[in-house]
Amino acid sequence: MKIGFEIHVQLKTESKLFCNCPTNYWEAEPNENICPVCTGLPGAKPNPVNREAIKKALLVALALGMDVEDRVVFLRKHYFYPDLPSGYQRTSTPLGRNGRLGNVRIRELHVEEDPGRYELREGLVDFNRSGVPLIEIVTEPDMKSIEEAEEFLKNLHLLLTYLDVILNPSIVFRVDANISLEGGERVEVKNINSIEGVRKALKYEILRQRRLLETGKKVERETRHWDEARGVTISLRVKETEEDYRYMPDPDIPPVLLSKELVEEVKRALPELPWERERRFVEEYGIDPSDAHTLVLDKELGEFFEELSGKVDPRFAAVFLADRLRGELNYRGLTFRDVLHLREPLERVAVAWYSGEITKNAAVELMRGVLDRTVVDVNAEIEKKKVVTDVEEVVEEVVRELASVVEDYRSGKREALNRLIGEVMKRTGGRADPKKVREIILTKI
Ligand code: ZN
Ligand code: MN
Repeated sequence: MKIGFEIHVQLKTESKLFCNCPTNYWEAEPNENICPVCTGLPGAKPNPVNREAIKKALLVALALGMDVEDRVVFLRKHYFYPDLPSGYQRTSTPLGRNGRLGNVRIRELHVEEDPGRYELREGLVDFNRSGVPLIEIVTEPDMKSIEEAEEFLKNLHLLLTYLDVILNPSIVFRVDANISLEGGERVEVKNINSIEGVRKALKYEILRQRRLLETGKKVERETRHWDEARGVTISLRVKETEEDYRYMPDPDIPPVLLSKELVEEVKRALPELPWERERRFVEEYGIDPSDAHTLVLDKELGEFFEELSGKVDPRFAAVFLADRLRGELNYRGLTFRDVLHLREPLERVAVAWYSGEITKNAAVELMRGVLDRTVVDVNAEIEKKKVVTDVEEVVEEVVRELASVVEDYRSGKREALNRLIGEVMKRTGGRADPKKVREIILTKI
């Protein structure tokens, strides 16, 4: 089995690729962000290409380890559809070639403009999206299973998050997946909008192609459409060649020169990449590699880890965040970005637990309270839950007053010990460490 992708990502820029219209299409009223250029009116003159989009595309190309071209040209790719008023999509020659992400080779990366949105059912068109800058990342067909394909997309998503180039976090990818099984032709599935969707579409397509091949039928080279609602792929067209698009250089758009200075400037702007950060966390802080991996998967959580490591032992911070906090966040369907405003109280809880001011149980309870907003004043709560230091006194009192329970324990009823522990915990308001209480009781009786 061979799987390859063409992945479209809308780039985070203020304005569109060839005009000054804003890019926030999902927040605007239909056809609010439009002008003669992005609606393809006759005679409308486009701006030269948006430099910010070129820089962001270069940033991705460099992060993928690609060889960068020194000049790109915008081509007109012709097709007829209501979402494309000019009758052609502007798409660049590759900015970068021969990259790699994990075990997957990246063939090329280029820039293009997004078409508008056409609602087939109502026949309505919205051009807010028309002209929004995209990059298209084309991989080699190097993935050999659905798991590998999913892993690749997750890594790519993480990388794009670190690079801060994603325009609309709710639709990061628009993926076309190529898939071929042994003995069959290559089939392209278009229009998949999420990693989850890719998994389902691949699963469906593998099953469909396998069935054909097993019954002695042919899998023909074709383009299919992923129908998200019905969970099936539908044949769109059989065969389609480059010539059908009648590619030609766009005479309105001057060629874009990628000077050495520009490439150097973008290189300097490259942030620390996730795999670099993971290695550094292990080397610099001496934390467990699996904790480092978990911390890096949530960019903001990793940043919080570095802050917290200045206040408590980094290994404690790593476990607290990677294990405890991340578990609680997952349970609530959140990432650390969603709770950035709660850093202070969360840090306070971690420090209180680390310094032994409160017990582990109290810390977990407090952390949940902070996340669920049932705890408002975290300092007051910590004060209430502070570990009682004179536990011995309480134990002595309990042993004296519950002499018959002590007798029970001595005569072999082991469960009597739990009664004693329970009583001490009750009298300390739950602020003692149960393990320690148990130890002290045992030495006293
Ligand atoms: Zn415009
Ligand atoms: Mn494309």
